[in-house]
Amino acid sequence: NGILFKNAAALEQAAKLQAIIFDKTGTLTEGKPQVVEVMAAGNPLTPDELLRLVASAEQSSEHPLAQAIVDKAKAQNLKIENTSGFEAIPGHGLKATIAGKTLLVGNRKLMRDNNISMEGMAERAATLEGAGRTVIYSAVDGKFAGLIAIADAVRPNAKQAVEKLTAMGVQVAMLTGDNRATAERIAGELGITTVFAEVLPGQKADKVKELQSQGATTTGRPYMVAMVGDGINDAPALAQADVGIAIGTGTDVAMEAADVVLMKSD
Ligand code: ADP
Ligand code: MG
Repeated sequence: NGILFKNAAALEQAAKLQAIIFDKTGTLTEGKPQVVEVMAAGNPLTPDELLRLVASAEQSSEHPLAQAIVDKAKAQNLKIENTSGFEAIPGHGLKATIAGKTLLVGNRKLMRDNNISMEGMAERAATLEGAGRTVIYSAVDGKFAGLIAIADAVRPNAKQAVEKLTAMGVQVAMLTGDNRATAERIAGELGITTVFAEVLPGQKADKVKELQSQGATTTGRPYMVAMVGDGINDAPALAQADVGIAIGTGTDVAMEAADVVLMKSD
């Protein structure tokens, strides 16, 4: 069936699961994000110029969202520039310097932490997030510069998997670093009611632990919890879970940390 069990204990424990936590990006979704909208904050910045600046910064990032932005800029034949002082901000985004300008690119929290207001674009951003898009915000020299909306389709079998697990009496949860509105929308589409959103990479394993101990309050024993993930970020959570399950198309680190590998990513 394309399911690789790396040890016998995982096979045995998989039969006793009370809860299963799914990472969102690349696990419940295809992990092939695509830019669907670019909105510049206006004069003198055009949408193409914004995309070009952000792509220039993102070319140094390993994040899947970064790849989507770089691909879009290349598809539009925009000239990507060299950057200096690139700094990844885990769970938030990045900082870089391009032609003397300081660029901040990332989520809402990154903007909030740097006291950057979204001016006239807050409403559009909320609409996009409510529709399940991941919105990337950017600022140039401390001033809001615009947003880039990214879509990532849910896997065709995700809904059915959630339904089957729920029918078996297994609690299904979603775990993501993405913003709450986007996460809630995708979870809603799939029938998932327990959502851990805006979780920093270093906190993913703690969320697994939280669900494990939560079981003790209802059943007197810790819950047996599985974690399904694909990213480098997910590795500690996969190790913390009673059964760690990696997506076969995911990162080597995730497959290394997991007990079970879904070879067909299904
Ligand atoms: P996840 O992959 O589960 O969404 P991450 O912790 O990698 O979680 O990222 C959390 C959020 O931080 C992303 O959804 C995105 O909004 C923002 N982010 C992280 N890295 C980048 C980046 N390179 N460019 C833009 N946004 C980023
Ligand atoms: Mg992922």
